Formats: sequence, C-alpha cells, structure tokens
Amino acid sequence: MFTTTLLDWFALNGRDLPWRHTRAPYAIWLSEIILQQTRIQQGMDYWLRFMQRWPKVEDLAAATEDEVLCMWQGLGYYSRARNLHTAAQQIVAQGGFPTTIEGIKQLKGVGDYTAAAIGSIAFGLPAAVVDGNVYRVLARHYGIDTPINTTQGKKLFTELAQSLLPEDKPAEFNQAMMDFGAIQCTPTSPKCVVCPLQESCEALRTGRIVELPVKEKKLKIQTVHLTYIYIRCGGKTAIRKRPAGGIWQGLWEPVLTLSPTLPRNGEGEPCGGFAIEKQAEGYPLPITGEGWGAGLILLAKNVKHVLTHRILLADFYLLETDTPPTLPKEYIWVNEADLDQYAVPRLVEILFALLPTSA
Ligand code: SF4
Repeated sequence: MFTTTLLDWFALNGRDLPWRHTRAPYAIWLSEIILQQTRIQQGMDYWLRFMQRWPKVEDLAAATEDEVLCMWQGLGYYSRARNLHTAAQQIVAQGGFPTTIEGIKQLKGVGDYTAAAIGSIAFGLPAAVVDGNVYRVLARHYGIDTPINTTQGKKLFTELAQSLLPEDKPAEFNQAMMDFGAIQCTPTSPKCVVCPLQESCEALRTGRIVELPVKEKKLKIQTVHLTYIYIRCGGKTAIRKRPAGGIWQGLWEPVLTLSPTLPRNGEGEPCGGFAIEKQAEGYPLPITGEGWGAGLILLAKNVKHVLTHRILLADFYLLETDTPPTLPKEYIWVNEADLDQYAVPRLVEILFALLPTSA
C-alpha cells in the first residue's frame, strides 16, 4: 500500500532534474555529492558547470585540486570537493565506475546513502536510501518514535526502508522517497490535507506530526573568535594554504591570528593559530618585522559564520605597509590582482568584499 501509493504520487509529482535524464554513473555521482549539503536549486547550477567543464570522470581526475576547489567555491563543506577529486582518480585508476554497492562505498566521500542512491539509479541495484527525508516520512507514516540519530534508530529505519523497496523499481522508489520528503511531507509544513497517504498515516491519526521524527539532543555549539589581517604591500598580499585536517583544508586565507590578541612587533606574540584545528608542533610562530601595530585598519568586527558544530566570529583588519613583515613560512606573497585564482572559504570572501580599492 505504502509503496504503490508513493510510486503513483511520484509518477505525477516527481521533480524534473537534469541528472534524472541520464543513467551515467559519473553524472549521478556528481549530483549526489553536490546535493549532500546543498539545496537543489543551487546544486543544479554547480552540477551543470562541473559537467560542462569536466564532462567525463577522466577530465575531473586530470584537473588540479585548486581548479576543483575554485569551481566548488560557494558550496561550502570543501571536504566534498577534495573527496570528489580523489574519488575521480580512484575511478580512473580502477578502470571505470564500480558497479556494486560495496565497490561504490570504497570511493572517497561516499557513504551508505550516496552508494545506495548511485547504485539504485545508475545500476538498478536494490538498495534503499536512508536520509533525513526518509526518516521523516517513515517515522510519521508508521508512527515510530525511536530516535533517528541512534544506532538502533538507524538500523530500524534502514531495515524498514529496505523492506518497502520494490526490487524491480529501486531507482523510482528512492527518488520518490527523496521527493516526497522534500515536497509533500516537509519538516515544518507537511501537506497532509492533500496527502495520498493520509488514511494510513499514524502521525496524522494520533496528532504527532510535529513530534516525529524524534532526535536525541545535539552536541553543544562552540563559538570561536578569530582575526584575519589582510596585508597590502606594493600590490601584493600574504596568504597561506590551510593545512590538512580542518574543514577548510586546501583553501587559502590571509594572515590569521588568535583573537583577541593581535601580534606585536618583535615580541613574539602568538600568531597564525586557528582555534578550530589542532596546532602543529612548533606553531604558532611569531610575526616579526617593522609595520605591525601601526596602520591597522578595522574593516569589520564579529562577522558571524555558522558551521555545523561551531559559530565563528571574525574580526577583519587591513594593514597597509611599505615594509613586508616577516611571516611564518607557509605564507606566500601573491599579486592582489591574482587573488581570484585561489579558492577561499566563504568567510574570507566576505573579507575580500570589504577591502577598499588600493590607492
Ligand atoms: Fe506526511 Fe502528513 Fe502525509 Fe502523514 S499525512 S505522510 S505527515 S504529509
């Protein structure tokens, strides 16, 4: 009953998305990675751009990481872009796209959900997807109050979704679940009045739509203060590539200091650290040289940037100087005019937009 009704609904209401016109695993995989943390409308633009620039997986594998990160800029969660690039190289190295769920899961950045989506849509494999949409639809329809973010909950919902999946129509079923959750049984305003499942929906019958699905309490969100200093010196500025380990790994940024202390000339104040990541041995290093302390211009204070488990509050400074300060060795001097060739986090984009044009 549930499955038949859902598939009938999908036949009439399913979304027409460009990657649904193909069974090419590369195109489907790309769409799934982009859509992991991105809304469909924004993701679609990026998918089209990626497909135009790198139409085949071999093209993407041959690109540089900087090119991929630049193309990804604006989508956030940059580990997805790095994983995408690595996985493209994995696929090429193994001579083609893997055709089993286990094989697909070996690709960097691909978990259970993405593997089931790619496997079912590209290869017709009978694997049910389980994500927020699926949890919500099943929890409401079957009136299940087991928390979805527990091992027990994950197992229960995965088994239920799998038991509902018709072996001959896995792609349609999975896409129907995604669309039904996104269009019909939405988080805050489900369209129960016009829902084809209303007669069998347990949450509707018992008035528990708002309560379901149940989630256990989240981790506390941490607030981190940081300060960026954009140095302008003879048409050049200093940036560094973020080291391995953090969410912004591989992206570029201006001089970063621990807030609220600003570096002081020659006094060896901590500089260049970033509270989000573990500091490497021997780090932070002091900034030395003439010019510090004088000529610092505040561009903005407490610019808020929200990440999954952290809120960043950033202060931005501009330092115009004729004497380049000595910086920790990972910083390089680049022409300001060439900055658009370096992929940067969204927060740094905001800083760049606040810079006055140089005299
Ligand atoms: Fe979701 Fe409402 Fe339909 Fe139940 S009746 S499945 S809560 S939209």
